[in-house]
Amino acid sequence: MTKDPAFGSLPRQAYSGSLLERGAALRGDDGKLAALLRHERAGVYVVGGELIVLKAHGAAPDPLFLPDEARTLGAARETVFLGLLHDAPRFGVGIDPAAIEALKARADLKLIDLRTIAVQGEVDAAHVPPLAEAKAILGWHARHRFCPNCGAGTVPVQAGWRRDCPVCKAEHFPRTDPVVIMLPIRGDRCALGRSPRFPATMWSCLAGFCEPGESIEEAVRREVAEEVGLACTQVRYFASQPWPFPSSLMIGCHAEATSDEIVIDKSEIEDARWFDRAELKTMLLRQHPQELSTPPPMAIAHHIIRAFVERGGDVLIR
Ligand SMILES: [Zn+2]
Repeated sequence: MTKDPAFGSLPRQAYSGSLLERGAALRGDDGKLAALLRHERAGVYVVGGELIVLKAHGAAPDPLFLPDEARTLGAARETVFLGLLHDAPRFGVGIDPAAIEALKARADLKLIDLRTIAVQGEVDAAHVPPLAEAKAILGWHARHRFCPNCGAGTVPVQAGWRRDCPVCKAEHFPRTDPVVIMLPIRGDRCALGRSPRFPATMWSCLAGFCEPGESIEEAVRREVAEEVGLACTQVRYFASQPWPFPSSLMIGCHAEATSDEIVIDKSEIEDARWFDRAELKTMLLRQHPQELSTPPPMAIAHHIIRAFVERGGDVLIR
């Protein structure tokens, strides 16, 4: 790969690159799990809805609680075994949103959402992937209390990695929803769009959920056609990123556009236009004359765009 010296070393995207070994073989062993929860180096991440609970003391907030400390914060709705950091067990505990309200007033705690944690570097970066794991799995529990097959209440088993229905005996596994996020490329230009939710100057990749019965490549071509009216031929996978809002997996791709005219679907995006690599470079480096920008390095979109700026059409070559 040719490297542009204007850029520094490649910063990490958030939520992936976990140092935890998930220890899936331990999930069915209740005796071992109980021992792990009593382990002297056990640590607990505490999640309440969209918010992560941090200890506010010291220079950097600390997201890791002792199991006994976590119990004082509020009744645990679910406890999930996340894995082992070397030999130290890590758990995620979901507490009631009502208990979260009471914690907001405490000076020794800081409650903050996981996007802000990743964008602002609120905690040591090594904590961010297990926090994403905890938030995604605990969010799944919060939304899947009843059996989609018969409507009965379900119970968590396998250290929180499955919910079973006691009535119809169905077993329910945590969901991960695939989302394609892509950059349509034509020669030296690519098409970016703007969601009405974005900050006023930010432009990013197009994105959308894969639909049932659709391959990643088909989803990329369909979403690009729907959102900006461009036809695409070849699609090249780039990288992926867990996106725990609530439980997506972003699948990053570059796509070769074969038409020029952009037709915007205003129900999906606010605006879209072509950008050449020189303009994109000023956006990535925060030097654009109109202060247009791309998403921050924590997001895979930043890396998809940067790869095109650095490598041009080579990103479409296998
Ligand atoms: Zn059932």
